[in-house]
Amino acid sequence: MKIKILIISAILIALTFTVYAQTYSIIIKGGHVIDPKNKIDEIMDVAIMDGKIAKVAKEIDSKEGKQVVNATNMYVTPGIIDMHVHVFYGTRYLPALMDGAASVGPDEFSFRAGVTTFVDAGSSGWREFEIFKKQTIDISQTRVLAFLNIVGEGMRGGPFEQNIKDMESHKAARYAKKYSSYIVGIKLAHYDGHDWTPTDSAVSAGKLANIPVMVDFGLADPPLSLEELLMKHLRPGDIYTHCYAYWPKTREAPVDENGKVKPFVFEAQKSGRIFDVGHGGGSFFWSQAIPAVRQGFIADVISSDLHTGSMNGAMKDMSNLMSKFLNMGLPLQDVILRSTWNPARVINRPELGNLSIGTEADVAVFSIARGNFGFLDITGEKMNGDQKLVAELTLRAGKIVWDLNGMAATKER
Ligand SMILES: [Zn+2]
Repeated sequence: MKIKILIISAILIALTFTVYAQTYSIIIKGGHVIDPKNKIDEIMDVAIMDGKIAKVAKEIDSKEGKQVVNATNMYVTPGIIDMHVHVFYGTRYLPALMDGAASVGPDEFSFRAGVTTFVDAGSSGWREFEIFKKQTIDISQTRVLAFLNIVGEGMRGGPFEQNIKDMESHKAARYAKKYSSYIVGIKLAHYDGHDWTPTDSAVSAGKLANIPVMVDFGLADPPLSLEELLMKHLRPGDIYTHCYAYWPKTREAPVDENGKVKPFVFEAQKSGRIFDVGHGGGSFFWSQAIPAVRQGFIADVISSDLHTGSMNGAMKDMSNLMSKFLNMGLPLQDVILRSTWNPARVINRPELGNLSIGTEADVAVFSIARGNFGFLDITGEKMNGDQKLVAELTLRAGKIVWDLNGMAATKER
């Protein structure tokens, strides 16, 4: 009898231990964690449970995880937020960014670059937003948020984006409020006139819905004043995208002809105006970016402006773009800040872009390849570099959605 009780007790204790021993679904062990929001920049273990970050600590016992992923010599960061992309893929308006083939499907290009959140930058206006939601946002594993185009028709191209009558701030604001789980801002783009009405309509929609505005400063020939845009029309928290573009005939650049950053640009940034890279297929010039970074004018947010034109050109993907900044001399911590916590704050989503306990476990694991690499700008000019971020592993809400080299494999031959 005594022996039986002993055996039963032993089994019970063992069971308790087994349950205790596997508290976490995944432990990412031994990686260098960079979590700018929480000021973490050291080797730490990260444990995930029920799709959320459960623990970040110097040492988490491997026995406590159902699965343990060894991230030694790698960097563990919050899932990357790409704040400027075009993912309203469709077949209706070719080749437009709105329901057209110039946009791309989110899951096809996110996880493989460490990205877990895409923010579509105005591909859709209010007229098509529900289609965009149904067709793309609702069916994607990637978290898709959006800046709503101030133009009702969205990025349908040509005359549609010049039609001031279709830039109705009340309608845009109404949709932004109705779909506030997805719409994080208002976008103005591609307007080529000299009228400030489109800018002011976008800002007025932003005010009504209490969200920021992102402005692609268009193509007015001769150019409008950048200082006037930043200081008189945009509010602190509003976003100037394509900040390293150089189209002297139609857009005033932040860096002057002698390679000097204009003083009002620093002022604008200091007073809270946000500068976004929006690399794209035509908006990233070494002649702007290198002197700007050297003089301390660094984009608040690193974003790709992903679409079929940019991904097959000089931009490629977020990890390649982030590598450009690394090779311009920005510390890795800073590069991660500008592609995680900074965009999260800009779009007022403080639950994103960090590894705080209880947040959805969107995580990226990068290695850094060393060697000789070339980085192109949109003119075809190459900058050489010796390091490149490689997206090894991506988790979205605790689920492994990308594993480049099988580092999370549970079977091996
Ligand atoms: Zn864009």
